[in-house]
Amino acid sequence: MNSPDSKSHQSAREIFEELEEYYDDHNVYYQTIGSVLDATELLGINHRLKLILSQPKNEIMVHFTAKMDDGSQKLFKGYRVQHNNVLGPYKGGIRFHHEVKLDEVKALALLMTMKCALARLPLGGAKGALKVNPRSLTKNELERVTRRFTAALGNNISPNYDIPAPDVGTNAQIMAWMADTYTNMSEASSKVIAKGVVTGKPIEFGGSEGREKATGQGLVFVLEELLPGMNLKIGDLSYSLIGFGNVGSWTARLLQKHGSKLKTVMDHTGAILNEDGIDAEDLTQYVKEHGGVKGYPKANPVSNDAFYSTKVDLFIPAALEQMIDFEHAKRMNCKVIVEGANAPTTPRAEQLLLEKGVEILPAILCNAGGVTVSYFEWKQNRQSETWEEEKVDRQLRMTMSKSAQRVLNMAREKNCSMRIASYAAAIEYLDKVYDMRGVFP
Ligand code: NAD
Repeated sequence: MNSPDSKSHQSAREIFEELEEYYDDHNVYYQTIGSVLDATELLGINHRLKLILSQPKNEIMVHFTAKMDDGSQKLFKGYRVQHNNVLGPYKGGIRFHHEVKLDEVKALALLMTMKCALARLPLGGAKGALKVNPRSLTKNELERVTRRFTAALGNNISPNYDIPAPDVGTNAQIMAWMADTYTNMSEASSKVIAKGVVTGKPIEFGGSEGREKATGQGLVFVLEELLPGMNLKIGDLSYSLIGFGNVGSWTARLLQKHGSKLKTVMDHTGAILNEDGIDAEDLTQYVKEHGGVKGYPKANPVSNDAFYSTKVDLFIPAALEQMIDFEHAKRMNCKVIVEGANAPTTPRAEQLLLEKGVEILPAILCNAGGVTVSYFEWKQNRQSETWEEEKVDRQLRMTMSKSAQRVLNMAREKNCSMRIASYAAAIEYLDKVYDMRGVFP
């Protein structure tokens, strides 16, 4: 499918001119809202909804100190951006990364609004971040910093209002510390449901079966739904992967069960290649022990250039934003990009890839498995229930398949790219809800 969507984000430019804000083409927030507002043009969406989507409802910034192991105090900066809650409580991950910026968190919060709307979840969109390199802290420091951050966020998060989850640099242990801190700060009568303030918790402490693998599992369900229509067989294809953390490693382990061949992997430590295939289970063990893929003995180290230009069927980014730029796109030799990460492809790269005939399966579809099972966890916590993994997977497959069909149908109806179709399918739903609810007061 060809993209008629690169009219250089005209709609967003006009909106930001009206808001008297400088529109920065290189900034991930403007790139993201630019594509989202392109989709509104296909649907003839009214001006009010465009304005509502253009900026988050709340941008919360907190500063707090925490004690390091040597007794010194350090100052930290944290963010929580609440983009939209027309469908339900704000929902979105918390990231720990030393280079995080407010605009990046805003882009990710906007994508959460789109993701929940596309999947028809009764949740809004949010994202949070703490500017810290978690690898630079000891376990005790990480716990203290996490608890202090949770306390600093205070009533801005709650099981009925805004529910964080794991993202880059955070995991089930960090969610457990957040839930415990929040529970201890809650009134006695609210303590029973207080742990529902975050999802992605350890199973022993209110987590859901299937949550840890959920994002990778959801991505694989999308591939099962869409690859046959592209004449690709999941058991007979090769792929490259950026990132071997939660999303990347689970995607690889699940694809391995289908017989797909992992040729190359790149993470923050380097890139490796084995034309005969890399064993995802073995590499997961290696990364746990060594902190990254560098030095993995059953593959060869390769340069970034060689990594991007390796010939594969699928290219799966599962690390940070903007990791596929125009220069990478020139070199890439794949049939389909499957966005496990959020906003991994810059608009210029996307344009070139579409011209080269590469299909791009967008993030708000491919990585919605995480928030979907987070929603199941939140429901289980509210009802004091525990679902079997089989039930979680069955319901996840249903949600992912329906979302994939929604995107495909919209792309066919509007003759647009899958990304614009995914935004259009989300916005069409938000538009109906706004229309029915009307304007208060
Ligand atoms: P993670 O922290 O578990 O893993 C991140 C991976 O990215 C690591 O392998 C790291 O080495 C790699 N990485 C970091 N910097 C890099 C660089 N400069 N070059 C190459 N690789 C680099 O994070 P995650 O939870 O797997 O999240 C990955 C992506 O998926 C993010 O975009 C996140 O927003 C998105 N996502 C995550 C979830 C979830 O449930 N965890 C859900 C939806 C979307």
